Amino acid sequence: MSELPPTECFIDGRWVATKQRFRVTDPFDNETIAEVSDADDKTIDDGIAAMSRIAPVWRATPAPARGTLLRAMATAMIADEQRLARICTRENGKALPDSLAEVRYAASFLSWFAGEAERIYGETIPASRAETRIVITREPVGPCALITPWNFPYAMLTRKLGAALAAGCPVIAKPASQTPLSALALAQLAERAGVPAGVVNVVPSHDAKRVGDRFLASRAIRKISFTGSTKVGIGLAKAGADDLKRMSLELGGNAPLVVLGDADLDLAVAQAMIAKFRNAGQSCVAANRFILERSIATSFTEKMIGEVGKLVVGRGLDEGVTIGPLIDDAAVKKVRTLVEDAVKKGALMMHGSLDAIRGRLVPPMVLAGITSEMELWREEIFGPVVAIRVADSEADALAMANDTEHGLVAYVFAREHARQQRFAEGLESGMVGVNEGLVSAAQAPFGGVKHSGLGREGSRHGIEDYTNLKYVATRV
Ligand code: ADP
Repeated sequence: MSELPPTECFIDGRWVATKQRFRVTDPFDNETIAEVSDADDKTIDDGIAAMSRIAPVWRATPAPARGTLLRAMATAMIADEQRLARICTRENGKALPDSLAEVRYAASFLSWFAGEAERIYGETIPASRAETRIVITREPVGPCALITPWNFPYAMLTRKLGAALAAGCPVIAKPASQTPLSALALAQLAERAGVPAGVVNVVPSHDAKRVGDRFLASRAIRKISFTGSTKVGIGLAKAGADDLKRMSLELGGNAPLVVLGDADLDLAVAQAMIAKFRNAGQSCVAANRFILERSIATSFTEKMIGEVGKLVVGRGLDEGVTIGPLIDDAAVKKVRTLVEDAVKKGALMMHGSLDAIRGRLVPPMVLAGITSEMELWREEIFGPVVAIRVADSEADALAMANDTEHGLVAYVFAREHARQQRFAEGLESGMVGVNEGLVSAAQAPFGGVKHSGLGREGSRHGIEDYTNLKYVATRV
């Protein structure tokens, strides 16, 4: 297989070239990797029409047969993991080991949902009249539009696509303009696995709003699943309300990572490194605000700095690199602005320096003395910056952790079981990691509360979000 996938739109089982193309560049040096077809309105409409045509066929395809196709895609992903990882690193910039981990994680959604396709069970309920039967089935919601971000270009797509296909829904996917090649590579795998034409369509574009508006305007599309910023997600939810489209929204996070006084510090540091630096910090579940109980604040910070010093910043494809470039200049500027604001308001740079930034390579920084007045506390950093605040008690730490409009994930480190339990219960978030820095898993429901989103992805709950309940009352 050649290194890169086809660069056209994938519509109704065919690769469709359009008049306009847009450049996909390597975040490290801005070199052009490919020029990808920009889906025009007709191409998008053709994709929607293909979904409408195939939808009754796909929902009538036995669930085990749908599962077999998903499993074939998963197997093909793993067989081709090195090439897929390189594609991801080239267009996203992330270090190659991060890309490889992502390919495996992405494939795990396909194989998990392949199995779950067979377990979309209904219910029967005892009725209050002797002659009545109450039967409930789960039916596919219908054609779905999937809008995915650049930070996990494979996994964010398979988490949606796997659930949708398992439930019996065809999809049209719009990948982020920075990373369309990963989505096109997945489309190619679907094609080779024998997924019927029209079940998977991909419409890359550099004009996200136009494509999004086209999806919103289509009555045929019954659900939009979006992962991205809270601002865009809320806009989609408002616009989709006119047609009562189902919405799944995975939005921003501002994750607290709390280390309580009795925590195992070696474990906490090791897990915090994953929670913070995976993908150079460009993740909605990245630890954004470190909250340390005073008794361990100094020792945790020293240990953490020791580990941070071992990170290697560089080109994602290069051997030994653990932190690749940030996605674009705007991302670098955001990190710079947040750190400058914190330093101006009194934060202390404990490790690293803004002066060490080279282009899009941002070496890790550790700042202490963060307060709630600082933007670093309020905003998703999306970069390799550790922002530390000290808490005087468990109650103080919990109040700080919940001091955000977001509620995706929170991490807490403690030895005492009752403390773990109390804290996990008090946290306002959809997910909690207890002594654990990596909560994402195909089997588990991923999603947030407050401004972090609606709905869940992964797990059986993730499939249910692609189904409608049908209740049939029968007089016998
Ligand atoms: P990020 O900060 O991850 O780029 P965005 O919300 O801007 O967050 O983007 C996430 C996804 O949503 C990308 O695929 C992007 O192209 C798409 N997107 C951005 N704006 C819109 C919009 N107005 N309508 C539909 N999709 C959009």
